[in-house]
Amino acid sequence: MFNALIVTKDAEGKTHAAVSQIAETDLPEGEVTVAVEYSTVNYKDGLCIGPGGGLVRNYPHVPGIDLAGTVEASDDPRYKAGDKVVLTGWRVGEAHWGGYSQKARVKADWLVPLPNGLSTRQAMAVGTAGFTAMLAVMALEDHGLTPDKGEVLVTGAAGGVGSVATAILGHLGYQVAAVTGRPETADYLTGLGASRIVPREELNETVKRPLEAETWAGCVDAVGGDMLARVLGQMKYGSSVAAVGLAGGAGLPATVIPFLLRGVNLLGIDSVMQPYENRVRAWERIEKDLPMKKLEAMVQPATLADLPSLGASILKGQIKGRVVVDVN
Ligand code: NDP
Repeated sequence: MFNALIVTKDAEGKTHAAVSQIAETDLPEGEVTVAVEYSTVNYKDGLCIGPGGGLVRNYPHVPGIDLAGTVEASDDPRYKAGDKVVLTGWRVGEAHWGGYSQKARVKADWLVPLPNGLSTRQAMAVGTAGFTAMLAVMALEDHGLTPDKGEVLVTGAAGGVGSVATAILGHLGYQVAAVTGRPETADYLTGLGASRIVPREELNETVKRPLEAETWAGCVDAVGGDMLARVLGQMKYGSSVAAVGLAGGAGLPATVIPFLLRGVNLLGIDSVMQPYENRVRAWERIEKDLPMKKLEAMVQPATLADLPSLGASILKGQIKGRVVVDVN
């Protein structure tokens, strides 16, 4: 028997999350059994621990969209007992049982070998949020972003995606303007690599003019909604915005004018279904371009028992940086 966070649903449709014991025979089918060492808390985890958000179909459920650990048993030739592995996405923790458990059984296709330079704890300090931040930076680079082009905006900067994006961009020599609604995080963000702080109120008003002064050479946007719409009108000619998240809303109340008159690009970033080769490329870049000291400065440690309250906090935008869950 081992511990897992189990979410159940009662007759009124209300969900309840608590740590309980399960057996290996309770685990779903899959080729690889992983002894999980660490997991983490992303925005989506908040939904899956709590109300479900339409992501979880079957209860009882084990959430945790990310996990890192050691292979215990494998029916797939790509992995053997003792291998260190990391898993993000593929709807693990939503449609499949996830990482909030001391053991997980998963498909070999979903795993990536842990890069040599990272520990399982560091991989979960990165997690889906950090992996996605790296994908966003790679997409901006692929569309011509270089440090000499000017300031890069990061929205939702004190959150998980924003913190890692700020640290990576700062390390690569970019001038980073970090948007936050929490002024008390200014020192934290500057420590990660932000060169200036932009108060959230400056950007979350509805678009009044389709074009404003050309200000940003690139943007990693974790917020969406009014803020993304506003930012589009402030992008420099030919620049790109990587659209990552919807912390401020799923709408996009914008005009197409920035696309037509300034050649602005809106790049969609999905971490869940990324092909294996891109995953390996992104993890290699994380190992190379994310300073581990800065990653450590983002970390808030936690255990399985802390997850119900952490899940509620991330949905309210109250988590700073990245939570690392020691499941043991
Ligand atoms: P966090 O909650 O850690 O960060 C979100 C941040 O957004 C908050 O910390 C806050 O930053 C800001 N924010 C919250 N509410 C608002 C609001 N109403 N208006 C403006 N800003 C707001 O979440 P994550 O970093 O884990 O995820 C960020 C987003 O990216 C989520 O929407 C998530 O679903 C999405 N995501 C998408 C992925 C993909 O594959 N496309 C993968 C991972 C995440 P501050 O306090 O600094 O203002």
